[in-house]
Amino acid sequence: MATSTDTALGRIRQRAVDASVGGKLRAGFVALLLVLFLVIGALLLTVSRLGAANDHIDQVAVVRASAADQLRFAASELRAEQEAYVMDWPTSRTGFDEAVIRFEAALRALRTAGADPMSQALINKLETSYQTFLASDQLIVQALDNNEFELAENLTLGAESLAARFIAEDAESIAALAEQGRAVAIERFHTTSADARALGLSLGVIALVVMVIASWVITKLIRDPLHRVQLAAERAADGDLHAEADVRSDDETGRLAGAFNSMLTKLRQREETLRADHHRQEMANRIQRAFEMADDEVAALDVVGLTLDDALPERSSELLLADNSKANLEQAVIAGTNPDGPGCPVGSPFSCVAVRSGAPVTFATSTAVDACPHLRTRGVEPCSAVCVPVSFMGRAMGVIHSVGDEANHPSPSHMEALTTLAAQAGARIGMLRTMVRTHEQASTDSLTGLMNRRTFQSRSRSLRRAGIPFALVMADIDHFKRVNDTYGHETGDRALKTFSDVATHTLRQDDFMGRWGGEEFAFALPGLDAAQATEVLGRIRLELAALLSTSDLPGFTVSYGVVDAHTCTSLEAAVRLADDALYAAKEQGRDRAVIADSDDATSPTPPTRAPRTADTPRHTPIGVLASLARDDDPLER
Ligand code: GH3
Ligand code: MG
Ligand code: MG
Repeated sequence: MATSTDTALGRIRQRAVDASVGGKLRAGFVALLLVLFLVIGALLLTVSRLGAANDHIDQVAVVRASAADQLRFAASELRAEQEAYVMDWPTSRTGFDEAVIRFEAALRALRTAGADPMSQALINKLETSYQTFLASDQLIVQALDNNEFELAENLTLGAESLAARFIAEDAESIAALAEQGRAVAIERFHTTSADARALGLSLGVIALVVMVIASWVITKLIRDPLHRVQLAAERAADGDLHAEADVRSDDETGRLAGAFNSMLTKLRQREETLRADHHRQEMANRIQRAFEMADDEVAALDVVGLTLDDALPERSSELLLADNSKANLEQAVIAGTNPDGPGCPVGSPFSCVAVRSGAPVTFATSTAVDACPHLRTRGVEPCSAVCVPVSFMGRAMGVIHSVGDEANHPSPSHMEALTTLAAQAGARIGMLRTMVRTHEQASTDSLTGLMNRRTFQSRSRSLRRAGIPFALVMADIDHFKRVNDTYGHETGDRALKTFSDVATHTLRQDDFMGRWGGEEFAFALPGLDAAQATEVLGRIRLELAALLSTSDLPGFTVSYGVVDAHTCTSLEAAVRLADDALYAAKEQGRDRAVIADSDDATSPTPPTRAPRTADTPRHTPIGVLASLARDDDPLER
C-alpha cells in the first residue's frame, strides 16, 4: 500500500518535474487564481453568514417583538374601549369593535412570527383569557340590552376586568419574552459574525499557505535544475569536462541540461581525439628523430626493431626488405616474442598482398578462408596478422609483418604506429639507399664498377696519411684505339670491363684499383714494394691472356708503370713517376711493367713526359719484368 502511494506520489512528482517551465508558470498562475478565489469565497461566505444572521434577527426576533408590542397595546386599548362603550351605551360600540380587530390582527401577527414554547403557552393562555373576555363582553352587551346597567358595570369590573388583566399580563409577558428573544438573536448574530470572520480568516490563511507552498514548489522546480546546470557549466569552464548537469526532467531545463551534457560528451571525445593525435604525433616525432640519427641502413633497421618491440611487445614482428634485384624479400629485422620472427615465407614483393595493394592488410584469424595464403599454409597455431607495406617514393621496398594471438589483434592505435613506422622506415631506408647509390655513382666508374680517379686518389692519400707503404701502378691498354677502330666501340667497352674484372679478382682484399680515365687504370697495393707489385701484375697478365684466349674478344695487352709511392714526396709525384715508367714500358715495346727510378722519387723537379712515339723511348726504365716481355703484338695476331 505504502509502495503504491509512494509510486503514485513519485509519479505526481515526476510529472511536476517534467512539466515545461511554461507549464510550471501556468500552474503557478492557476494556484494564484485559486488563492484569489479562496479569498473571495471566504469574503462572500463571511458576508453571507453575516447577512443570514441579520435576517434572522429581523424576521424572527424583531418581528416577534414588534407583534408582541402591538398586542400589548391592543390589549390595553381593548379594555379602554370596552369601558367607553359601556359608559356611552347605547350610543356606539364601533371603537370597541375596531380595538377587537386590531387585537386579533396583532395576535395573528404574533402567531405568524412564530414563538418559542414558553411564548406559545402564554399566547394560548392569552387566547383563553381573550375568549373569556369576549364571552364576558357578550354578557355585558346582554345586560346593557336588558338595561341592567348595574350588572353590566359589575361584569366590567368583575370577570371582565379579570380577563382583561390576564390578557394584559400575558401580552406583557409575551412582549418581555420577545424582547429577550431579540437579545438572544443579537447575541447569536455576534457569535455568527465572529464565526464568519474566523472562517474567512482561516480560509485566507489557508490560501496564503497554499500560495506560499505553490510558489516555493514552482520556484524549486524551476530554479533548482537551472542552478544545477549553472554549477555544471562553471565546473566545465574550469576544465572539468566530466561535470555533467544532473537534471533528469523532460522540460526546457532538462533539455538544456541534455544539450549541455551532450556538448560535454563531444568535448570529451574531441579531447580524446586530440590526445590521441598528440600521442601519435609524439610517437611519429620520436621515430623520426631516431631515424634522423640513423646514419646507415643498419642503424635504421635497428630503429625499426626497437620500435616494433616497443609498439607490439606481445606480438612477433619482422621487416622483410627487397634485395638489390628487387625480386626477393629478405628478413631484415626481427622483433617481439619469437626469436626467429613470424617467418613469412613470401618470396617476392609482388607475392605479398599488402605490397601489391600498397595499403595495410589485417587478418583477424589465419584460419579464415580469406586469410593470406602465406599465413594460412604456414602451419602455425591460429593467429591474427597485420602486414603494412614499406615503400619509398611510391616504389615498394618491403613489408612489416606481425602476428599474434587471435584475441590480441592490433588496435587502431597500434595500426597507426605500424603505418607511421612503415612510412618513416621506407622514407629513411630509401633515402639512405639513394644516398649510398648517389655516393657510389659519384665515386665509381659506371662502365667497370671501379672507383673513379678522384676516389682512387682519396683512398691513396688515406694510405699515405696512415703511413702505410704501397706500390702505385699506372696501367694503360696497348693499342686500344686499334681495338675500337677494328672491332667497334662496344667491343672496346667489353675489353675495358674484362681487364677490370680480371685485375679486381687477382688483387688481394686490401688492394684497390680505379679507372684513371679512358683505357688507363691505377692500382694501389698496400704493403708491397714495386718489385713485389710486378709479380702481381704478372699474374694479372697471365689471367687476362688465359681469359682472352677463350673469349670472343680480340687479344690485347697492358703496359704498367710501377713506383714505391711512400718514397715520393706526394701522391701527385708518385703518379707522375708511375706514369713516366708506364711511358717507358710503352717505349720498350708494351705488354710489360717498368719500375720507376727511385732517384726520381725525391727529385725536386719531376721529369716531364714528352710526346710519346712508338719508336723513340725518352725515358729509361730501371727494370723490366722479363716475364711480361712479349715480342708479338696480340692485335697483330
Ligand atoms: P697506346 O698503346 O700507345 O696506349 O695506344 P692507344 O691506342 O691505346 O692509345 P690512344 O691514346 O691513341 O688511344 C686510346 C683510345 O682509347 C682512344 C679512345 O677512343 C679509347 N677510349 C677511351 N675511353 C674509352 C672507352 O670508355 N671505351 C672505348 N671503347 N674506348 C675508349
Ligand atoms: Mg692511353
Ligand atoms: Mg693505350
